[in-house]
Amino acid sequence: MKIGKYSLGIGDRFGHQGEAQLRAIIKAAAAGADIVPVWNKSNREHSYIHSKPVDTRIEADAAVKALSFEGNYFVDADHINLSNVQGFISASDFFTLDVASKIGSASSDEEIAAFIASSEKYTGALNIPGIQDPFEISESLLIEICRKFLAAIAEAGRIYSFIKEQKGEDNFVTEVSMDEVEIPQTPVEMFFILKMIAEQNIPVQTIAPKFTGRFNKGVNYVGDIAQFSKEFEEDVLVIDYAVKEFDLPDNLKLSVHSGSDKFSIYPEISGILKKHDKGIHVKTAGTTWLEEVIGLALAGGEALELAKYIYINALTRQEELCAPYADVIDIKKDELPSVEEVKQWGSYKFANTLRHIPDHPDYNPNFRQLIHVGYKIAAECGAKYTGLLEKHHEIIGKCVEENLFDRHLKRLFELR
Ligand SMILES: [Zn+2]
Repeated sequence: MKIGKYSLGIGDRFGHQGEAQLRAIIKAAAAGADIVPVWNKSNREHSYIHSKPVDTRIEADAAVKALSFEGNYFVDADHINLSNVQGFISASDFFTLDVASKIGSASSDEEIAAFIASSEKYTGALNIPGIQDPFEISESLLIEICRKFLAAIAEAGRIYSFIKEQKGEDNFVTEVSMDEVEIPQTPVEMFFILKMIAEQNIPVQTIAPKFTGRFNKGVNYVGDIAQFSKEFEEDVLVIDYAVKEFDLPDNLKLSVHSGSDKFSIYPEISGILKKHDKGIHVKTAGTTWLEEVIGLALAGGEALELAKYIYINALTRQEELCAPYADVIDIKKDELPSVEEVKQWGSYKFANTLRHIPDHPDYNPNFRQLIHVGYKIAAECGAKYTGLLEKHHEIIGKCVEENLFDRHLKRLFELR
């Protein structure tokens, strides 16, 4: 089972926007970009919302049927590990093996020695086609890379085998992720990580490293764009070389997590992919939930009141809500609007403050990030929240579709 060249992770926390998301994909196809939709949802999201992996499958199948979509699509068990993968086996056909927590775990001296022995041909100056300067590979560098990643990739091997035994070898797509860490992986680390993945016989089709810079949830990229661009291009070239050297799947591509809203690096990504004729997977999960809140605000009345309630509640529960996302948000507390202020707001003021239009005078990325992590509050509202989603599905669906197509896909794939 192979995923296409371009794919988009369209997580949907509450499972109501499948059709709106798919409309954006269909629009992109009409504009010339064939993009495979992948409905992704992590165990963490399921546990907050009290949904089950099968609910994502039902949503995806229903959207595909309703819009008579004829392309491939997948359901991604996002960020799973051995402790929770079982619940995703039957509903998913895309698995993101998250081994970030195993980075730095110990491997035996024998395992390290074996890896170093098999890497001998790469020591000295390692030339990767397309990359100007060779990488200097010493034995001490290899030991360091083994100490960081060998045990983590062995764990990925165990998760992969577990899934393969139950689903059968060719019935799912495999991603390996290590993005939820503080320290980025360098292109040279990526090369040896891919060697380890090949030795574990994992037919990896997408790989999610931690890139340089901050990928905060729902807001723009923060970091050195030139440095990102250099490393992203080197990663692309390293993958190309590793695929041939280690006999990995020839469609192996990068996966960008927290990839929504990174408008300032989309032109870089797009240019590099074009230059080297390569594919990409971009995960955009939480941006859709924010469009639900924008849609509710625009609907006015009790829907606007609920949007305000979500923010006001999130403001008082900041610590609790932000803790699980500490590495991927950056909220300046003193730039958050006060309860009294927000209570005065009308629909447009609320929507404009939340909507990601970077140069809009009302846009506030702190407000946006806080609501991003506040979906737990909407989940607590239960049927009141989902009832309003249904009541206002038209206006919300328009927001979701516009956000994915106009602000994301158009920029990522240079569409008109
Ligand atoms: Zn991720």
